Amino acid sequence: MPDFRCITPVNKNSRIFIAGAGGMVGSAIIRNLLEKGFNNLVGSFHSSPPQADKFTLIPNSETLPKGLRLVQIDLTCQDEVKRFFKELKPDHVFLAAAKVGGIHANNTFPAQFIHENLAIQGNIIHAAYEAKVKRLLFLGSSCIYPKQAPQPMKEEHLLTGLLEPTNEPYAIAKIAGIKMCEAYNRQYGTRFLAVMPTNLYGPNDNFDLETSHVLPALIRKFNEAKQSGAPEVVVWGTGSPKREFLHVDDMADASVFVMNLAEPVIDEHLTNYPKPCFVNVGTGTDCTIKEVAETIKEVVGYKGSLRFDTSKPDGTPRKLLDISHLHSLGFTAQLDLKKGIEDTYDWYCKRL
Ligand code: GDP
Repeated sequence: MPDFRCITPVNKNSRIFIAGAGGMVGSAIIRNLLEKGFNNLVGSFHSSPPQADKFTLIPNSETLPKGLRLVQIDLTCQDEVKRFFKELKPDHVFLAAAKVGGIHANNTFPAQFIHENLAIQGNIIHAAYEAKVKRLLFLGSSCIYPKQAPQPMKEEHLLTGLLEPTNEPYAIAKIAGIKMCEAYNRQYGTRFLAVMPTNLYGPNDNFDLETSHVLPALIRKFNEAKQSGAPEVVVWGTGSPKREFLHVDDMADASVFVMNLAEPVIDEHLTNYPKPCFVNVGTGTDCTIKEVAETIKEVVGYKGSLRFDTSKPDGTPRKLLDISHLHSLGFTAQLDLKKGIEDTYDWYCKRL
C-alpha cells in the first residue's frame, strides 16, 4: 500500500486541481489561491468555458490570469476522471464541483441532485487516492445535519436524526462524500478533508429565480421591481426561517486555510478516526428570511412592500453552524453581511 504519510505541505508550485472552476465556490477558491501566489492551478469546467472575469472580478476581462489553466471534463464520467488524474497527477485537490441549487431546484430535481453529486465525488475521491494526491478538500453543505438538530449545529450532530425532506437527496450525497473521505483516511492513510459551509452568496452566484438560493433571488427580484416600479416583491414562505449567510470569499479563504493546516494538526484533529474529517464554516450568527429581505431591499433602494407567499415551502426552520472547531484551528470569517450584500449587488449590476 502506498505510504501517504510522507507529505510535503502545499507550496506555491504545487499542482492544484480545482474541480468546479466555473462555479461560485470554485472560482472564489481560484481567486484566493492566485492572490496568495499559487501559480500551478488547473480548473475544470463541464459545458462551456467560464469567462476570465470570474477569476479576476474585473468585468469583461478576457485574459485568464497567469498560473491558471482550464480543462473541460465530464466529472460524472469515471473513465474521463481516471484518465485526467493519471495525466495531471495533481498534488492537491479542491472538490468544489457539485450539482447545487436552492429549495425549489432541490425539490424539483431530486434524482439529478443525488445522482450527479454521488458520481462526481465518487469518481474524484477514488481517482485522487489512485493518483496519490497529498490532500483533498471536499466541499459539503450545512444541510447534512438533521432538521431538528440542536442549534448551533456541531460536527458531531451528523447522523443523529432525520434530514430536511426538501433537500434530503442532496444531503445524503454530501454525507456519502464525507464518509468516503473518512473511509479512505482510515483504510489508506490519505489526508482527505472536508468543509461544511453555511448558506453562501457572492460574485458568480446563480441569479436564476427558479434554481437559485434566497439571497441572489431577492437581489434580482428587488432590483427588477425597482426598475419596473412594481408595488411589491414576493418572498417565498413565511419569512420566519432563520439562515446564516457567509460570503464566498470567506469560504474560499477558509478552504485554503484548512488545506494548508500543518500535518500534526490534520492528523490529530481531522484524520484521527472516529473524529469527523470535516469542519463547519460559517459566521456564527443568523437572521430570519424577513430580516435578510429587508436588508436587501435597503441595499437595492427599493421603496415598495414585501409579500410572503406561504404556498412556497419554508424548508428547515433554522441551520446555524457551531463554528468553534474552525475558531480553535485559527480561522474567523471577516466579511460583514450588509457589506457583503452591497458588494454582491454592485457585482450583479455591473454584469447586467
Ligand atoms: P435552503 O436554505 O436550502 O432552504 O434554500 P434557499 O436559499 O433556496 O431558501 C431559504 C429560505 O428562503 C426558504 O425558507 C425559502 O422559502 C426562502 N425564500 C424566500 N424567497 C425566496 C426566493 O425568492 N428564492 C428562494 N430560493 N428562496 C426564497
